[in-house]
Amino acid sequence: MSDTAKLTPLMQQFWEIKNQHLDKILFFRMGDFYEMFHDDAKIAAPILNIALTSRNKKSADDTPMCGIPYHSVAAPLGKLLAAGLKVAICDQLEDPDTAKGIVKRGVTRILSPGMVYDPETLSELSANFVAAFDNKTISFLDATTGECFYYETTTEKSDAISKKAIELLVLLQPSEIVLTKEQKESSEHLGKLTFYKSEFNDLEENWPERFQNAPVSAKRLLTYATRMQGVHVLSAMQEFTRRELGGNMSLGANTLKHLEVFQSYRGEDRGSLFYAINRTKTSAGARLLKSWLQFPLLSKEILNSRYERIEKWMGKPSELKILRQALGQMGDIERRLTKISYSNCHVRDLMSLMNSLQVGLQISPLIPELNENPHNKKVQQIEKIANQILKTLIDDLPLNMKSGGYIRTGVRADLDELISLSENGQKLLLELEAREKEATGISSLKVRYNNVFGYYIEVTNSHKDKVPDHYKRKQTLANAERYITQELDELERKILSSREKRVQLEELVLKELRDFILSQGTLILEVAQKWSELDVLSALSWLAMEQRYVRPRLSHQAVNGQNGDMNLYIEGSRHPVVEQEVKKTFVPNSISIRGGECLLLTGPNMAGKSTLMRQVAVTALMAQAGSFVPAKAADLPIFEQIFTRIGASDSLSEGLSTFMVEMKETAEMLQGAGERTLVVLDEVGRGTSTYDGMSLAQAILEYLVESAKSLTLFATHYHEITDLAKKHTQIHNAHMGVQEHGQDIQFLYTLKSGPANKSYGIQVAKLAGLPDTVVKRAAVLLREHEEQVHARADAGAFGRVGAQNQMDLFALPQGEIEPL
Ligand code: ADP
Ligand code: MG
Repeated sequence: MSDTAKLTPLMQQFWEIKNQHLDKILFFRMGDFYEMFHDDAKIAAPILNIALTSRNKKSADDTPMCGIPYHSVAAPLGKLLAAGLKVAICDQLEDPDTAKGIVKRGVTRILSPGMVYDPETLSELSANFVAAFDNKTISFLDATTGECFYYETTTEKSDAISKKAIELLVLLQPSEIVLTKEQKESSEHLGKLTFYKSEFNDLEENWPERFQNAPVSAKRLLTYATRMQGVHVLSAMQEFTRRELGGNMSLGANTLKHLEVFQSYRGEDRGSLFYAINRTKTSAGARLLKSWLQFPLLSKEILNSRYERIEKWMGKPSELKILRQALGQMGDIERRLTKISYSNCHVRDLMSLMNSLQVGLQISPLIPELNENPHNKKVQQIEKIANQILKTLIDDLPLNMKSGGYIRTGVRADLDELISLSENGQKLLLELEAREKEATGISSLKVRYNNVFGYYIEVTNSHKDKVPDHYKRKQTLANAERYITQELDELERKILSSREKRVQLEELVLKELRDFILSQGTLILEVAQKWSELDVLSALSWLAMEQRYVRPRLSHQAVNGQNGDMNLYIEGSRHPVVEQEVKKTFVPNSISIRGGECLLLTGPNMAGKSTLMRQVAVTALMAQAGSFVPAKAADLPIFEQIFTRIGASDSLSEGLSTFMVEMKETAEMLQGAGERTLVVLDEVGRGTSTYDGMSLAQAILEYLVESAKSLTLFATHYHEITDLAKKHTQIHNAHMGVQEHGQDIQFLYTLKSGPANKSYGIQVAKLAGLPDTVVKRAAVLLREHEEQVHARADAGAFGRVGAQNQMDLFALPQGEIEPL
């Protein structure tokens, strides 16, 4: 690198470019390959699982190198980005065939996790956001779909991030956050978030009109996107719209995690609510359903209109089936449009957009809104766009676009002429060949073409003497001579130039078509959004029929500070994920909790407490996303917030969870909880010693029913707490039914009123397969403990501890049974 003088001109060029992109892997285009050199090669080869070689094994040049074919870069690029690397793509900027000296090269695109090469390498179920914030706003941009929006989230310090903004980041899970240097250095909160962080300090001020009013954070994203991918990215990018947070139910990161809304505890799609209820047929529909779950509504009116549309489809199952078949043919319009905005897009991208638009046109009559103006006009415009594509491109598009051949005849008269010339060329050559054979009497005479000499007439040596004088020698081979004639020379020029002109003209027509489509991008996306809604609603309808869900009845809505009816009653409630995943039959339960009251659940492990509580929360979430719910009947209030907290030791799979984290979250919850909050607390206080934990659990519960007046589901293994029901009429004890068969127990999964009367710790352990001798010994020890406690209680040393609780003492960790 230092001694450039000794380098070949090619490597000199490489270093000139590489030096400007030291933080990235440089893909250096050479012929049909993108090559990587030096450290780039050493880093990338193992990730891509390709061989690391040397540039020239024979000479002293031992530059490490690896490469991938230019036409299949999408997947390898995806791997490098997933490994947290950035990639700069360096292309040949001139035609290597005509270039003099070394081909001019330059970086054409830079890729990062948020700025991908090919959206098709991403999961079609998730958006791919890049985010940025300032002290007033937080903005999101998805370069793969053109979706752009921002929220107002004011903070005092310019480099700090607001709590609301962090919540949004957690909710929307951007692939990348773009930070200024100051923000990167000062945002301690961000440190904990595991998003890919890029530092970027520039801010362009001159933007096309539709971006001029975008906030600073949005403009920073636009600047970043154009620097990374070139200005053309703007053409598929929508205006930044402002989104309101007020109209949505608030869901903390923990709630999403504990309810396993988008991912299971294991971090998998399977086992999540989304996976269990997603029946959409299009990628855009799947992403829309996801956003409905991310931002559940508070408006009874809108929710009821969603339910109505779901209900309508349930009444016409055969039509629904046909609709879903049609939707299955619709591609990803949003992502296809952004692909079309790339200069290297393929004609087939336009054709698949056309196919999707046609499916959309087919289903549009089913959407009442689209049959009325102004939408009706937009649908007509879509028809025009589809026709324009159809009229311009041939049906059977070639895979390789290099030699044209994709534009129809009839589009332009001058192109038609060139097409016929370039296609007739072959015929004219054959005619010439026949004529020359006849004239010379050489039957083996051939007219052929090669890249170096162009067209020629080849005559084998045995017929050399029959060659006429006007043949000019071009090349001599061992057993043949190659000639050119004036006629062939003229024909060659005509054919070659017509081919070249044809390719150029086809490219021009294609560009005009692309520009036309992109100029209609906003309109296409607006109508496509309606198609996606139809997809989601018909999918929810299908789901409701398939899984026997019911339409929720939403209670009286809260208006102007007045509380609505907050009572909850679910008859025959099921857990939508567990019932699909467990092999045994799921036992439905009816749950009734009045506003401000608490269902206090006790009972042994594995009895179904957590499942029951979560299914109530999941049911509320589904209802407010606009879906039917897994139950026989459901009367639900509209919740402004769902809060769930799972005790530290109950979520061991999370690994990181500590008592401190648990208490922090609980503190936040208690600050925010109110009458329109649904609270699910599962084994809080488990992460500390028994008496600490028990005392905290009790105090928290008291606060919830006395002050916050939230609707609460509370599961605990501290049986002592069940006594609270005596003091607070809002607290109702309940437990999950267990059947005893002598020494054995069987879980019934039925919700029963009253506290559990036993903890069944030893029976559960037996069920888990603990050796018989251990189980028997434990039973003996338990009896001894019980007797001791009785004796002490009789002597007045142990106060209020009742008979039920003594059973549980055995389950406590050793050393913690000392009284305070
Ligand atoms: P707990 O919180 O009381 O320890 P869980 O709610 O974790 O119990 O339930 C344990 C297991 O029991 C679940 O993983 C599920 O397989 C099963 N289960 C829970 N509820 C039901 C039900 N209503 N019907 C059938 N199986 C259930
Ligand atoms: Mg549990």
